[in-house]
Amino acid sequence: MSEAIQQADELRSKAIGLLLTERNVIDERLVLLGYDGIAPNANQSASRKVKTCSLCGNDGHAARMCPNKKAGAEAPATQSA
Ligand SMILES: [Zn+2]
Repeated sequence: MSEAIQQADELRSKAIGLLLTERNVIDERLVLLGYDGIAPNANQSASRKVKTCSLCGNDGHAARMCPNKKAGAEAPATQSA
């Protein structure tokens, strides 16, 4: 029994060692990519997709949330008749 546990523990240690090595490689790549410790898709998934308003062209809000939206200003001049 204890042998099996020892083997399992050994396998676990090996797996951890491999993962740590992989993590080091990944960390190096992340640093190369300019990763600064903040996971881009952890909390910023919403703010990462910068909305660009189609009305005023500003970033950070959608057209329907546009503070510059004026009533009637978005209506195109199609009703000339
Ligand atoms: Zn806007």
